[in-house]
Amino acid sequence: MNEMSSIRAALLGRDGSRLATCYHCGHEQEAPVRAQTISCRACFKQISIPDIHVRALHWGGSLRTSGEIIIDRKARVVCQSVIAAKNVRVLGHLEADVRAGGAVYVGPEAVLKGAVRAQKLIIEPGAQLTGGPFIVPGSFIESSQPARA
Ligand SMILES: [Zn+2]
Repeated sequence: MNEMSSIRAALLGRDGSRLATCYHCGHEQEAPVRAQTISCRACFKQISIPDIHVRALHWGGSLRTSGEIIIDRKARVVCQSVIAAKNVRVLGHLEADVRAGGAVYVGPEAVLKGAVRAQKLIIEPGAQLTGGPFIVPGSFIESSQPARA
């Protein structure tokens, strides 16, 4: 690495990072903006960084991110769990257990079947919610161990 590129790397390291919360243990750490995954320094598990935007059909694997999850109005998601360290916005059809470190927003024509644990739950008139339990405010961390900073 030459001098210019190491200066650039140092600059990008400072400006091009964001705070990523581990959805396994709750640990917060800096991650490069363009990173797709990082490993948590506390629990050593992989964390997915980018926001997840579902526009059509998603069936099967759980959706997990340290960012946000958006289920479009025409999207249909059926899976075990949907976990976001930030917000989850449901505008379409979602069948899953939802956990959010931020808010869960359920839009006016949205359908949500499953349990919710979030800091906040916002339900527009016209939204359909079935299942439960809905625990608000509730921790989005799966582990029974308390999150440590
Ligand atoms: Zn962790």
